[in-house]
Amino acid sequence: MRPLTARSDVRFVGDRDTMFVHDSRNPASEECFLQKLVEDGLAVGFEPDTLEQAFNEGFDYCDTCIGAEEPADLVSERRDSSSETSRLR
Ligand SMILES: [Zn+2]
Repeated sequence: MRPLTARSDVRFVGDRDTMFVHDSRNPASEECFLQKLVEDGLAVGFEPDTLEQAFNEGFDYCDTCIGAEEPADLVSERRDSSSETSRLR
């Protein structure tokens, strides 16, 4: 991961404090205050800029801007290997 100084050039924005990753292309991410994460120096980007990479680096997806979209292929893998199944359903 790498620190972000602007949110415009990446899709997936990680929060180093909470370890949640947000989808900045989802209009719902307006509720996630991504700009504030950038300003506070907590925002990180991923290389490559994918949800899978964020998971590989230990991030969990945000229920507000990613959970609602159900990225089925990526999330199903996560469900099987985590203890958070009950939270998702
Ligand atoms: Zn979010």
